[in-house]
Amino acid sequence: MTYKAYAVSWNLTQRCNLFCAHCYISAAPGASAAGELSTDECRRVMADIARVNPGTFLILTGGEPLLRPDIFELAAEGREHGFTVVLGTNGVLLRPKQARLMKTHGVQGRRSPSTRSTPRATTRSAICPAPGAAPSGRPRRSGPRTSTSRST
Ligand code: SF4
Repeated sequence: MTYKAYAVSWNLTQRCNLFCAHCYISAAPGASAAGELSTDECRRVMADIARVNPGTFLILTGGEPLLRPDIFELAAEGREHGFTVVLGTNGVLLRPKQARLMKTHGVQGRRSPSTRSTPRATTRSAICPAPGAAPSGRPRRSGPRTSTSRST
C-alpha cells in the first residue's frame, strides 16, 4: 500500500512570540534558530513534496512563522510548486504590511491555533501569556533548543 500526503503542516521554527502552556512543540520566545532548515534546504524539501503531490495543502507554521525572515519567500516558492499555501500563525504579529505580503506572495489563507478562539480573554492570557511571563504548568527552559520538529 502506498500513501500520498495531501496536507503538510510544517513547523519551520520553534521560535514564537508567545509561550502557551499547551504548546505541542514547546515553542517559545528565545528558542534557538540553530536547528532550523535554511531557505535553500526548505526549497529542496518543497521540491520533494511536489514530487509526491504537487497539489499539497501546505501549512507553513511553527512556532510563529512570521519570525522567519524568509517566510514570504518560502510561501511564494510553495505557490510556484502549485501548493495551496496557508500560514499557521497566532496572528499577534499580523499587521497590514504582513497581510499585504501574504497576498502578494500567494498565501491563500491563515490557519490559527485554537488559542485564538479561547472565549475569554482572561483565560487566553493565562494559557498563552506574553513573553516574560511563564504560565503555570510549563517551566521556562534554562537554555535554547536547537531542534526543529516537522510533521506531515
Ligand atoms: S502560539 Fe502556537 S506555536 Fe506559539 S507557543 Fe502558542 S501554541 Fe506554541
